[in-house]
Amino acid sequence: MLSNPQETIKVIQENNFTFHKKYGQNFLIDSHVIDKIIAAAEIDKDTKVLEIGPGIGTLTQYLAEAAKEVVAVEIDDKLIPILDKTLAEYDNVRIIHGDILKQDIASIFGDDSFKNSFKIVANLPYYITTPIIMSLLESNVPAESITVMIQKEVAERMKATPGSKDYGALSLAVQYYAEPYLAANVPPNCFMPRPNVGSAVIRLKRLAVPSVEVKDDKQMFKLIRGAFNQRRKTLANAVSNFEGLSYSRQDVEEALTKLGLDPRVRGEALSLEQFAALSDALSDD
Ligand code: SAM
Repeated sequence: MLSNPQETIKVIQENNFTFHKKYGQNFLIDSHVIDKIIAAAEIDKDTKVLEIGPGIGTLTQYLAEAAKEVVAVEIDDKLIPILDKTLAEYDNVRIIHGDILKQDIASIFGDDSFKNSFKIVANLPYYITTPIIMSLLESNVPAESITVMIQKEVAERMKATPGSKDYGALSLAVQYYAEPYLAANVPPNCFMPRPNVGSAVIRLKRLAVPSVEVKDDKQMFKLIRGAFNQRRKTLANAVSNFEGLSYSRQDVEEALTKLGLDPRVRGEALSLEQFAALSDALSDD
């Protein structure tokens, strides 16, 4: 298997492959980590998997053995002929050459894919972690869960709770749509080449309905972005200074008071439920 570092070096040398930093290429070379990803994703022979960025096919080989079907989207044209070779013995894998951000993901598993949901698994390119995850969560793609290797610091932000230093707009956006679970911390020596940062495997299980009810979720997320844009300021000050929102400091302070909150509270103290209530209260004015 490719998870053996010697095998990875061999494939890279035989194919004269050079790593592209701009594509965030850090290939996995540790089978224990791959086992943890497969276990966290809860994959069995009935599961369809969408893999983002298969690289030379290391994680893909394990997914092909564990799952029913794997579709993998890879942007780097130099990797396509390599994947044809490393995955030749698996007849349940399909490679799509393209940019994941430009794919019509809903149709990847055919027209009936909305009835047959699938799971997303990836060792993500770190330069586009947040756009990929947010576009998957915000779209109606029928992905039951997203299990991904990402930068540890980003994983901490996704699962952070009010009052902690990591808590912010990303925590609230992720937790509106999904339930995060940190499956493993992964050190740089599990990759080739080694990244400069620690990594973590996080699983986001999509909720059947968003975790809070709110009249206008787009407006709530604008309010959240405003609240964390200047996180050392009071929420009312930060929001009233935020371009794209037309609430005055007084509007926000009054709405906070109406909700039984301190008008001088900072955004980092509010839960998602409280942001939803504040957004509704401000839209009532
Ligand atoms: N899955 C492999 C592994 O674990 O060894 C490779 C993971 S590597 C961190 C990220 C992969 O995503 C690379 O193969 C890279 O070329 C690919 N990639 C980067 N940007 C992409 C994009 N926008 N769409 C699809 N694949 C992309």
